[in-house]
Amino acid sequence: MTTITNHMPTAELQALDAAHHMHPFTHNDSLAEKGVRVITRARGVYLTDSDGHELLDAMAGLWCVNIGYGRRELAEAAARQMQELPYYNTFFQTTHTPAIALAQKLAERAPGDLNHVFFASSGSEANDTNIRLVRTYWDALGKPSKKTIISRMNAYHGSSVGSGSLGGMAFMHAQGGLPIPDVVHIGQPHWWAEGGDMTPEEFGLARARELETMIETLGEDNVAAFIAEPVQGAGGVIVPPDSYWPEIQRICDKYEILLIADEVICGFGRTGNWFGSQTLNIRPDIMTIAKGLSSGYQPIGGSIVSDAVAEVIAQVEFAHGYTYSGHPVAAAVALENLRILEEENIVGHVRDVAAPYMKTAWESLQDHPLVGETRIVGLMGSLALTPHKASRAKFAAEAGTAGLICREACFANNLVMRHVGDRMIISPPLIIQPEDIDKLIARARAALDICHAELKAQGLLKAAS
Ligand SMILES: *Cc1c(COP(=O)(O)O)cnc(C)c1O
Repeated sequence: MTTITNHMPTAELQALDAAHHMHPFTHNDSLAEKGVRVITRARGVYLTDSDGHELLDAMAGLWCVNIGYGRRELAEAAARQMQELPYYNTFFQTTHTPAIALAQKLAERAPGDLNHVFFASSGSEANDTNIRLVRTYWDALGKPSKKTIISRMNAYHGSSVGSGSLGGMAFMHAQGGLPIPDVVHIGQPHWWAEGGDMTPEEFGLARARELETMIETLGEDNVAAFIAEPVQGAGGVIVPPDSYWPEIQRICDKYEILLIADEVICGFGRTGNWFGSQTLNIRPDIMTIAKGLSSGYQPIGGSIVSDAVAEVIAQVEFAHGYTYSGHPVAAAVALENLRILEEENIVGHVRDVAAPYMKTAWESLQDHPLVGETRIVGLMGSLALTPHKASRAKFAAEAGTAGLICREACFANNLVMRHVGDRMIISPPLIIQPEDIDKLIARARAALDICHAELKAQGLLKAAS
């Protein structure tokens, strides 16, 4: 057997990858033809690939490497824990100190009466937990008909059968028989793309009131919960109009509906507070966490549950759990990550330094001929590519054509910026400094110029009719 290392030529690694590795959310034949990019190491906010390029990672991996790459303390926490107790379960009336300490720390950090943690290894798993948790909650209260979970179109809540059903991605539902029964979707507060002639505030209210209409259509006695990301991430960093969340909160309060805030991206400093719910003034009954919980150094997620919900669940045997719920190594690494977030005041750095600087810089791209709108909360931002700003026009070409050209131009300029359709999105490590933000914006602008020239050359600057 050959030992596969970073010293092998890129082409060889690409061939082996194409032969055996099935990539998520990827057309694998096209990727094999093009050749996958091999990332070999990373430090701070920069990645290195197998050809020696140094890329500014404006996506923090996949929205997760919040404290940046290369923190030795997390590696040491993992090594220590592996030697002391690499694994034990939390099923059969046992526990261990990393799980205890992490649950306690999360209860301390989470707002309000969110004081109880059910662990998982990912955001998808945590949302699967939430489906069973909210239905079990109503069942235990003698209201078994309250089963339906209301979510939103273009939401992202994970990729398992349950969490993919909660999500509102039509292209995901088209594969594998999703959604599962008793999950329904209302419209998203995406004013730029769907707001028509309404003002953003009118549109935000209208979209929030779809929740009330849906509850009344289904009957309050049939609805268990509403789930939403405080700011939609994978859907394209859709920042809702200011009118949206207060109205959603009012509706959840008025009817007996549990509110699940999916904080997998927004949590742990991304929006300039510990949780997106604090930035957007939401009072959830349950929060989904993952990603930034460990800064991606270990796979771990979970559900932070209110006193009221936990008290009801505690009265039944909740027949649910994962072999790796509260995994000691993952928990120890998450704890070390939270220690660094606290002691280095990284959330304060986002709020007081990085986010204000980034906001000015990001919004400066608004003058580019291709950029329709820029939106940003904390350190998650998006911009809409458009062939015609004033009418908020979409491109005549298939959605994502311009976005893909722009993303490729970013890579060519040593910047990792993702596209969702024809929106470009950023979510850099939270430790990013102003000088790196300057680089990010300069490279993004250069990429926008290249994209503009290419769209023009290919005759793709036409608006959809
Ligand atoms: C990434 C994500 C998930 C899924 O998390 P995984 O760890 O990939 O399973 C769920 N919700 C949101 C909002 C996410 O961004």
